[in-house]
Amino acid sequence: MTGASRGIGAAVARELAATGRPVIVGFRQDETAAKQTVADIERAGGTALACRADVTEADGVEALFRTAEEAYGRVLVLVNNAGIRADQVFAAMEPSDWHAVLDTNLSAVYRTMHRALPVMSRARFGRIVNIGSVLGSRSLPGVANYAAAKAGLEGLTRSVAVEVARRGITVNTVAPGLVETELVADVEFLRRSARTAIPARRAAQPAEIASCVRFLAAPEAGYLTGTTITVDGGLSAAA
Ligand code: NDP
Repeated sequence: MTGASRGIGAAVARELAATGRPVIVGFRQDETAAKQTVADIERAGGTALACRADVTEADGVEALFRTAEEAYGRVLVLVNNAGIRADQVFAAMEPSDWHAVLDTNLSAVYRTMHRALPVMSRARFGRIVNIGSVLGSRSLPGVANYAAAKAGLEGLTRSVAVEVARRGITVNTVAPGLVETELVADVEFLRRSARTAIPARRAAQPAEIASCVRFLAAPEAGYLTGTTITVDGGLSAAA
């Protein structure tokens, strides 16, 4: 999986490893955190390997899959979790902020799914879970790049899902609301909104997103495809 060194990705890696599957813990730069995630998994009796894999580069994606295939065989479950923010009001948004967020949060998923699907098609089985956001369907000032990427991700997910459903492959989006991770550590106003706008009156813990991914990645979830599961403490329902 991509972006598994910390936050939601690390929680998903731990959750999937707990089902007995070997997990590749992909990361971009934080090798220490990735190795800590692997150590946590091994301490709990699971199997995992860390792999430096920048998903904005074709070589990074190839490294992720090669590492998985050489260590554990074909990849039949893919979780696209890597994501970044570069918030700015649209009028002041530099092309570099636009492209970095679109590349990491959307184009990278094109790259990984393109690499994964031929193998899943031959196996007549596959599970792809893409981590979106409630900002794929609603918005805040300053997140045009992020919202565009996450909305695009949902469209990409739906389109690929209908193309591959007949081959036993499911493709879904999990759209979290506010989750306690480093990604949102700097946004105090979101924390305040958690206490008022979110019906659950709190942010989610990463494990609460991971349990939903675990469900979608399971063999039993074979008829659930092309959809978005929102995990937001009731935020969208109350809007
Ligand atoms: P974190 O910032 O805590 O972790 C981000 C992860 O993505 C890290 O493992 C990081 O690796 C990795 N990553 C970033 N860029 C790249 C890249 N180019 N290539 C490979 N890996 C990369 O974020 P969260 O856990 O909060 O977010 C995970 C996902 O959940 C994202 O897609 C985010 O958009 C989404 N999300 C988060 C919400 C929240 O409130 N936290 C709400 C809604 C959605 P490294 O450590 O090496 O930098």
